Amino acid sequence: DDAPRSWDSRAEAATFYGFTDLPSVAQRGTVVLTHGEGPYVFDTAGKRYFDSNSGLWNMVAGFDHPKLAEAAKAQYDRFPGYHAFFGRMSDQTVMLSERLVEVSPFASGKVFYTNSGSEANDTMVKMLWFLGGAEGQPQRRKIITRWNSYHGVTAVSASMTGKPYNSVFGLPLPGFLHVGSPHYWRFGQEGETEEAFTQRLAHELEATIIKEGPDTIAGFFAEPVIGAGGVIPPSKGYFQAIQAVLKRYGIPLIADEVICGFGRTGNVWGSQTFDFVPDAIIASKAMTAGYFPMGAVVLGPELAQRLQNASEAIEEFPHGFTASGHPVGCAVSLAAIDLILNGGLLDNVRALTPRFEAGMAELAGHANIGEWRGAGLMGALEAVQDKATKTPFASNLSVSERIANTCTDHGLICRPLGQSIVLCPPFICTESHLDEMFEKLAAALRQVFAEVA
Ligand code: PLP
Repeated sequence: DDAPRSWDSRAEAATFYGFTDLPSVAQRGTVVLTHGEGPYVFDTAGKRYFDSNSGLWNMVAGFDHPKLAEAAKAQYDRFPGYHAFFGRMSDQTVMLSERLVEVSPFASGKVFYTNSGSEANDTMVKMLWFLGGAEGQPQRRKIITRWNSYHGVTAVSASMTGKPYNSVFGLPLPGFLHVGSPHYWRFGQEGETEEAFTQRLAHELEATIIKEGPDTIAGFFAEPVIGAGGVIPPSKGYFQAIQAVLKRYGIPLIADEVICGFGRTGNVWGSQTFDFVPDAIIASKAMTAGYFPMGAVVLGPELAQRLQNASEAIEEFPHGFTASGHPVGCAVSLAAIDLILNGGLLDNVRALTPRFEAGMAELAGHANIGEWRGAGLMGALEAVQDKATKTPFASNLSVSERIANTCTDHGLICRPLGQSIVLCPPFICTESHLDEMFEKLAAALRQVFAEVA
């Protein structure tokens, strides 16, 4: 059967790949997908894969949810597209803004729409710069984020991202600063308690603010759980310690909830799970269950008021995208939020979490798994060559890629990230889906560790 080969070569001939390990593709080809059913996707040869990554953390309602497709179709039939400029916007946009403020941790607030998480981070940075300009503090331009964070790919959001690969672009831009990642297992020092580690990070942040000059800092952005950096929940008390420092210097704390938002960690927001209230939220992904590209900035009351005042002073906020507040996206998002909150998906995340944690803990018993970490239905298993010393495997062994490739062979999609394997199954899963996922992953771990250990 040469159909998959021909799809594979057609894919590579005319598509320029991003975030794709080209040696792996050269060796294994491209999996070309045609459709999905629940948490499964199917390739052109009809092979079925359980997608333990929910696409890219976003397809939380699975791949064939009728309510989302119906919401999109009904809105396409009624009013298929409009902008949100010049004092015009669709009724769906109005309704979604009300809903987002209602489900936010804020008593009141305002929403600004984008097409992606990257653009929502860019938009928030421009809002902070705009505030500085309008409030007579144009020097408040610096943005602080963490090493190993992921905030997107536009020039600004890639500058926020704390990953070394952005240096090939000459990024970060000037004024984007990075402080330590709250990964205690990896960065805690000999004999240091988790609490002391947290305090060290808070001191580092404060020292950075003082050195740079507090009135040059526009904002601090953090994912409640670092996602694409390898699923790193905060160390104990982290956000409380960080927020206390930021408050001392009047610096807004922005929660990048692009992955955590809308249920992933077992609450609507990751910031709820880790018990802090940010000054604004960046949302995307599960906001539409991945059925429409959309992102949003949700401003808390104080930032909303300051931005409103600043805009009135200048008479407009000169920013927005052609498809900001797209009526179909808004209709899909209203349906997705309804499914998550009222249709049982968030309840299911909570119900499945003990089984998920038990499965992770069991796999972490392996001699070559250093730790498992996670929150709700997101987790990572960190491969190590030596568990006692936490020594990683040599990077040229590509251990996590080999594990993920072996899983793919067995009909399980999971993601290698550094030395870890990341899992974040759709919210619609059942316990038997999780059993299938863990069985397939366990077999792949046994096979690959036997080869490399
Ligand atoms: N922020 C976080 C925490 C993310 O995980 C991502 C994407 O994975 C983004 C921002 C960027 O979102 P997008 O890919 O929609 O631009």
